[in-house]
Amino acid sequence: MGRPASKPIHRRAVLVVCDSLRADLIGPEATPRLFQLGAESCRCENHRSVFPSTTRTASASIATGCLPRNHGLLGNVVALDEGRGLAPVSTGRADYRDRIRALTGRVLTRPTLAQRLAESPLSGSGGAVIFSNATPGAAHVQDPDGHGTLYHRAGSHGPGLRPLPPAQHLDTLKGIEGDAAVTDRFVEEAVLGGEAALCVLWLSEPDFTGHAQPLGGPEHRLAMAAADACAGRVAEAVERLDPGGERVMLIVTSDHGQETTRRVIDVNALLVEAGLKAAPDSTDIVPTSQGTAAVFYAAAGARERIPALLEFLQGQDWAEAVYGGATLRDVGLDSGGLESGGLESGGLDDGGAGNGSVLAAAVSMAKSDAKNEYGIAGLSDIMFEEGGINNPGRGQHGGLGAYEQSPFLFIRGGGFPSGTAIARPTSCIDLAPTILAHLGLPLGGMDGRNLQGVQ
Ligand SMILES: [Zn+2]
Repeated sequence: MGRPASKPIHRRAVLVVCDSLRADLIGPEATPRLFQLGAESCRCENHRSVFPSTTRTASASIATGCLPRNHGLLGNVVALDEGRGLAPVSTGRADYRDRIRALTGRVLTRPTLAQRLAESPLSGSGGAVIFSNATPGAAHVQDPDGHGTLYHRAGSHGPGLRPLPPAQHLDTLKGIEGDAAVTDRFVEEAVLGGEAALCVLWLSEPDFTGHAQPLGGPEHRLAMAAADACAGRVAEAVERLDPGGERVMLIVTSDHGQETTRRVIDVNALLVEAGLKAAPDSTDIVPTSQGTAAVFYAAAGARERIPALLEFLQGQDWAEAVYGGATLRDVGLDSGGLESGGLESGGLDDGGAGNGSVLAAAVSMAKSDAKNEYGIAGLSDIMFEEGGINNPGRGQHGGLGAYEQSPFLFIRGGGFPSGTAIARPTSCIDLAPTILAHLGLPLGGMDGRNLQGVQ
């Protein structure tokens, strides 16, 4: 297997995402390979996710280098009007890509790394190759328009969204075993066996287990160890390929952390009770659960209720931070111009919901710094989601809490000196410009910055 390490190669970047792994849980015993990799890398010690800190928003931000308000994917759930009024739609569904394209003509509003590579001189290398064991939605936003090659259980495609032959399809499930199988193929086919300028591996752990088991408990620790082993295998393969680390930059990171669910709040029912929403399934004011955050949409005919909604939210003990109008921009969202145009101006749009609806408010749910039974700090209320993950005592994320906003980021090679640290705040929007700079491609149109030279 693999090519001789001496074979000449162009510059490449290898990106591994250990979904949900918190920076403070990396250590010599829990995750020995990552701990070692951190020592060999440039460590970003104040790394942050985006808001909402959900996998799909973060995946789109990693792929585009942009904040959610600019790439257009505003959460794990969004409110769309597909002809029957505003309703919540999970962006993780396999059909979300086609539904949002049918409604708005696009999936994301900024180009992905896969697209930028396909339009560059590096397209001949195969551009971007992505192996994802996340939800279909989180996988799709890495390459929604089929510029590169994407392997995922919901469907694997090559350039032009051309389906790959069945023998090449990836058929793994979330969890430890699936992640190990995806890593096998990623190392063999993408890292060692291919020449793609960008290789992305998205593991499901420790997120998958963390949502179902207590953080720091035996099952969660096994899941962290499994993600650690997968990341370690990729790091070894990259070292074999390019021992000096000059040509192949390795980025190992997570998209967000997790906190322990404290209370599950039925926000929808509370809005109905407060007279702000006509009925649980009404299309006037539509809250969407982002786990430990909530994002509220208002239909065109319900915009006059937004001030009352904001006042209501500010009085709730489960709402720690409330954003609306201009302050949505402070957290990377946008009301669609509501703050400047006023409630009466027409033509406003939240970036995809349709029919004049707007983003009315966003809430990061209430937190506590207390520890769970395994000594893992950080508790948070969550918004109940019909059919979603509503598990008190188990992991969740989505808000602005200290721990869910503490993913890790290690960069090895590519000119980043080993054994160093960046103390300034960094964000998952900085990955795309850092990768493009390493590959020698232009950086325009992104919110993030190249981390090369930042201290
Ligand atoms: Zn995630």
